[in-house]
Amino acid sequence: MMSDEEQTKEIRHKREDTEQPLVLPGIHRYQFFTNLKDRGWTMNLDRAALFGIVAALLATILKPLAHRNPATIYCYECRACYATQDRCPVGITFQAELAVAGRVTDYLRFLRNGGLKCIRCGNCQSYCVQYLPLPEMIGTMQHDTRLAIRKGIVPRYALEAALKDGLVGKEFIDDVVNALA
Ligand code: SF4
Ligand code: SF4
Repeated sequence: MMSDEEQTKEIRHKREDTEQPLVLPGIHRYQFFTNLKDRGWTMNLDRAALFGIVAALLATILKPLAHRNPATIYCYECRACYATQDRCPVGITFQAELAVAGRVTDYLRFLRNGGLKCIRCGNCQSYCVQYLPLPEMIGTMQHDTRLAIRKGIVPRYALEAALKDGLVGKEFIDDVVNALA
């Protein structure tokens, strides 16, 4: 015959579905090792991790919105647009890098991949599996990069390297040369 305490323990260790956390109406999340209530520390770590994931997702969405470049959010980095190859008249090979640089406003990545020599012809758009408006996305980032160059935000070494490697189109040459003067 079990004592009351033993019976309570026995009940606590039963793994009834109905005692598991409810994630959606009628759907319980099964906890494999311990009940949430028995692990306060990991429960708080779970919450911290979830908070970090939500914050990262929000930053991924809010930054492109603030920079008026919402289409970049939809790029899922499949890199199908690399198939453009020699149909890009200025020889840009990594269009997805330009899309991602626009999403996170990474001027160095944009410069390094020839963003300032894109002439927005649109040839790469038909290779995008989502038909994203690559010329507009790249054009918006070119505009932001030009402003950043004028404000002195883009480091000198990156501008020098872009110029040396022929990664600056004639539209932007004056901005880069003036920034280096
Ligand atoms: S839009 Fe820009 S990256 Fe795309 S093919 Fe034309 S020049 Fe190349
Ligand atoms: S094909 Fe489109 S979705 Fe895929 S990486 Fe290129 S721009 Fe992004």
